[in-house]
Amino acid sequence: MIREPLIFEISNEGKSAFSLPNIDVPVKEDILKNLPVRKEIAGFPQVSEPELVRHFTRLSKTNYCVDEGFYPLGSCTMKYNPKVNEKIANNHKFLSSHPFSPIDLVQGNLEILKMTEELLVEITGMDAFTLQPSAGAQGELVGMMLIRALLEEKGDPRKIVLIPDSAHGTNPSSAHICGYKVQEVKSNKSGTVDLANLLNAMKEDVAALMITNPNTLGVFEFDIKKIAEIVHAKGGFIYMDGANMNALIGNCRPGDMDVDVIHLNLHKTFSTPHGGGGPGSGPVGVKKELIPYLPVPLVEKGEKGYFLDFDRPKSIGRIRSFYGNFQVVVKALAYVLSLGHEGMKEVSEIAVLNSNYIRKCLEEDFHLEYKTPTLHECVFSDKFQKVHGITNLDIAKRLIDYGVHPPTMSFPLIVHGALMVEPTETESKRDLDIFIDAMKKIAQEAKTNPNVLKGAPHETYVRRLDEIGAARNQVLKWEGTAAQNEKD
Ligand SMILES: *Cc1c(COP(=O)(O)O)cnc(C)c1O
Repeated sequence: MIREPLIFEISNEGKSAFSLPNIDVPVKEDILKNLPVRKEIAGFPQVSEPELVRHFTRLSKTNYCVDEGFYPLGSCTMKYNPKVNEKIANNHKFLSSHPFSPIDLVQGNLEILKMTEELLVEITGMDAFTLQPSAGAQGELVGMMLIRALLEEKGDPRKIVLIPDSAHGTNPSSAHICGYKVQEVKSNKSGTVDLANLLNAMKEDVAALMITNPNTLGVFEFDIKKIAEIVHAKGGFIYMDGANMNALIGNCRPGDMDVDVIHLNLHKTFSTPHGGGGPGSGPVGVKKELIPYLPVPLVEKGEKGYFLDFDRPKSIGRIRSFYGNFQVVVKALAYVLSLGHEGMKEVSEIAVLNSNYIRKCLEEDFHLEYKTPTLHECVFSDKFQKVHGITNLDIAKRLIDYGVHPPTMSFPLIVHGALMVEPTETESKRDLDIFIDAMKKIAQEAKTNPNVLKGAPHETYVRRLDEIGAARNQVLKWEGTAAQNEKD
């Protein structure tokens, strides 16, 4: 493997990757005269076109992506995203429309927003949606703000939000940012919400229960109706974290489970490539009672066509610029329309089948803390390997040597040494088997050759990093050379 140096290190004075013709019009010197324009960028790398192209092509090959292989990050729903959605979202008419365009020039765009909203209503069984939030976490915050706005109007915003101990970390942070105190609800032996515990905790100062269904163990909360009854009886709301919609889509609807507010992650369930920071989209769906508080603007249809409704006195206001990540919405709409109801149903059925295939094939090699049947993901632990001194980190790193992306590690927190696997529906049996074989080899290596796991990965560009050192002792500006880097 060629150790690719930094582009600064291959720089040679005077080289250039482009050549522009001489200017054939008079030069106007004075336009930028009073602006702080840099004459020269100090240390800017100077390379030829082939050097430039090869540098970045080589670097791109050291990366891993869902177009290259299986990406079993649990909770993240790293499905393969059909390229046709990308093509539609990149239509030049979408690319050239501007958020400040006059409304009558963007009627088609507004129709897309409205149509997506209506389809999400249909898919989830909620009454209305806002497409504004940029991600699941922002959707959670918006959802909590809606609940708070309604409770405030009733005269008491309440103090506490209940959250199961298996929840994603964004749940407590969203509740906290919204001004609530978070109280944990313990899971029972099946990994679901313990009803007795909930009954005890559900007091009149509780604003909401934030519940993930299926939860982060992949277990469906069969008592969801009873749970909703307990919470509603004391005037609280059910917030459902819908990040795991891939397990339900087309087969059942959160709205029918008495959920009051839900967020979806379009970049997970509805097929937008993600990881590395976005763009994403976390639409929030609500039941009727909460509609007046939704962020402005909402897209409505009037006599003269679609318009943006800002005249919503009870609204919590704007929660971001413009109308959300429009192209992510376009991709989601293209995805939903290309699959149809039958296709959606198949998505969740195959996602569940794939996960259960992996679970069954690996259950003797890797410990399952919870034996309850699971849907679209399954959570193993490193308990069997621990006796040989091997942790989930060693297993994850060794998988990289076998050419497979590691699963999510150490989450949910209620499983010690967790390895959380979510294959999604887009993986073939062949790809699942490659993963299963690698995991079985690793289970064997843990017994016979634990050192090979301790030192993994062996086959990669960069070996095991000192993660704590990297976090505590950040070197944000590199001034050495690649050779030195290697040595260090
Ligand atoms: C991904 C995820 C979130 C957060 O969503 P983002 O879009 O990453 O902000 C919340 N809850 C669960 C269960 C998730 O998997």
